[in-house]
Amino acid sequence: MAYDDNNIFARILRGEIPCTRLYEDEFALAFPDIHPQAPTHILVIPKGKYISAADFNAKASAEELVGFYRAVSAVAKQAAVEESGYRLICNAGPHSHQDVPHYHIHILGGRPLGHLLGPPL
Ligand code: 5GP
Repeated sequence: MAYDDNNIFARILRGEIPCTRLYEDEFALAFPDIHPQAPTHILVIPKGKYISAADFNAKASAEELVGFYRAVSAVAKQAAVEESGYRLICNAGPHSHQDVPHYHIHILGGRPLGHLLGPPL
């Protein structure tokens, strides 16, 4: 599958769709999820054109990999959820409900999050 240049996060990166830029560096951009599932719900995306975790992990340079994952931690720290705890979620593929085909990590926190998975659908 080819990367879709018109996916929502590509458009956010280009500034065509507005977002609150909570964190940005050479490798990553973080912004609040438009439909928050917890008091803190932030999306962190790499700046490069990667569809999924598998795509990013296979094709990104070592510098991009380190830069992105360090940015995820920096965002969690900045959001002040390190001490109370938080959850990182990465959906991949249809069963997980990955809706946006640009790799992203959800940072969720700010309340007790319960066990890993909710009840089955
Ligand atoms: P996925 O299901 O692909 O892992 O998560 C995509 C996330 O992107 C969803 O939680 C959804 O609420 C969020 N989202 C979709 N469109 C927008 C948008 O235009 N702006 C922001 N900030 N978040 C979005």
